[in-house]
Amino acid sequence: MGDLRDLYQETILDHSRRPRNFRTLADADRKVEGFNPLCGDRVTVFVSLEGDQVKDISFQGSGCAISTASASMMTEKLKGKTAEEALSLFEGFHALVTGKHEARGNGSELGKLEVFSGVSEFPIRVKCATLAWHALKAALTGAEQTVSTE
Ligand code: ZN
Repeated sequence: MGDLRDLYQETILDHSRRPRNFRTLADADRKVEGFNPLCGDRVTVFVSLEGDQVKDISFQGSGCAISTASASMMTEKLKGKTAEEALSLFEGFHALVTGKHEARGNGSELGKLEVFSGVSEFPIRVKCATLAWHALKAALTGAEQTVSTE
């Protein structure tokens, strides 16, 4: 398991150093800002919808490695998904990082996102890992323009 964990951390470091979809979306239908005062992470998630489908998704902001990598990997995962699929992935991801279910490895709907399973051992990091997802959820449900983890 040791080697596997190192590999996971490498994925997180890679995404935090070179975040994917790190840009604004000029034609975004939804834009929600998220803030995690515990760590100082700020992220703005942009979503462009086509019907019920996430046509494009991006983010901007600044934060710790975990929050940046999580936002980056979330955007990669959710492009092309329906809002319902995206919200279901959020539930699965939240359960994973809060230790409510274990990483399942191959075949898991979360796929690469399982690299965040180690976060469950560090409760203070859970808010970093879920910040972008909370913003996404607010964007898809149209609930709020700003979300805070507090
Ligand atoms: Zn953080």
